[in-house]
Amino acid sequence: MPSFIPPEVLLLGPGPSPVPQRILDALARPTIGHLDPRFVGMMDDLKRLLRYAFQTGNELTIPVSAPGSAGMETAFVNVIEPGDTVIVCQNGVFGGRMRENVVRIGAKPVMVNDAFGTPIDLDKVRSALKANPGARALAFVHAETSTGVESDAAELCRLAQEHGALSIVDAVTSLGGIPVCADAWGADAIYSGSQKCLSAPPGLSPATFSARAMERVRARRSPVQSWFLDLGLVMNYWQGAGGRAYHHTAPINMLYALHEALLMLESEGLQAAFARHRANHERFRDGLQAMGMELLVAENCRLPQLNAVKVPEGVDEAAVRKRLLADFSIEIGAGLGELAGKIWRIGLMGAGSNPESVDRVLAALGACLDRKAP
Ligand SMILES: *Cc1c(COP(=O)(O)O)cnc(C)c1O
Repeated sequence: MPSFIPPEVLLLGPGPSPVPQRILDALARPTIGHLDPRFVGMMDDLKRLLRYAFQTGNELTIPVSAPGSAGMETAFVNVIEPGDTVIVCQNGVFGGRMRENVVRIGAKPVMVNDAFGTPIDLDKVRSALKANPGARALAFVHAETSTGVESDAAELCRLAQEHGALSIVDAVTSLGGIPVCADAWGADAIYSGSQKCLSAPPGLSPATFSARAMERVRARRSPVQSWFLDLGLVMNYWQGAGGRAYHHTAPINMLYALHEALLMLESEGLQAAFARHRANHERFRDGLQAMGMELLVAENCRLPQLNAVKVPEGVDEAAVRKRLLADFSIEIGAGLGELAGKIWRIGLMGAGSNPESVDRVLAALGACLDRKAP
């Protein structure tokens, strides 16, 4: 059997984003032992870099050894116990997955629903918190990748705190692309993914937990039902005081890759990375407008890294995506849930956020739709 040689594809979908050669090179370095003191030194540096990305001083800041969905599950299974009430905001597909986590724990979800394509309504959240005193947590998605909407994370975390609830924040698509300010927001459990605005391959979920969240974990009456994601056990490996204890074999080479991606983010600087995502989004938006196309989401809550483009009347959206991949080697995403068939999701994430990518996808869309790109 021949080796698998993947084609070169420009990844402008909802993730994964393009992985720079520098990060692929890091991935290919020699595998060493996961308890080797030099590897442990790299892990310490990785935690420092993650604190920079999350803008936090949280001691418990680590990459969970699995994709973003595992970060989500880590947050829920550790902070929530059977019988707890959790207010879950849903304005897209990922809020629905949060609900599923709550139900499977044996806790009670109280849903705050908003239309796909709009941000979470703060008044509805306020009412839900008032109507459910003693709710354990408020869970929401900061950057809804299914719709391209940003919600007001600072205010949502503040509301949770005001009502004595913990906040669980999905920052999978936001980290590295728009500000994620764990400490300034007073957020309690935040998780992300390696393959969106950080531009590492998929497979790791950076996560950070406040002291308040850890107090809750320590005060649990029941053991965390997931052995693999139990933070108490995982921490013995990531920050064991009397030396590191084996829990699972860390994904060593993937951690090299994430470390390299975070070094690149640090040397660019968070503010510069945010400004770059913003500027390339604006370039894309202007190009779309010139071609007579529209974005789904209102300007004040649009994500620069995930553009939900309305499919023009009479266009076969799947055929366009197919042709972009086959003839132009560009991957974009389809609409999900109630937006299936109505939008394309065009990601300008991480290393994919640059003027060349914008111009390439505009020109290719122009060719497929028979419209002149600017
Ligand atoms: C991609 C994504 C996830 C899931 O991450 P995986 O790495 O695919 O498991 C969760 N939430 C949001 C908002 C995402 O965009």
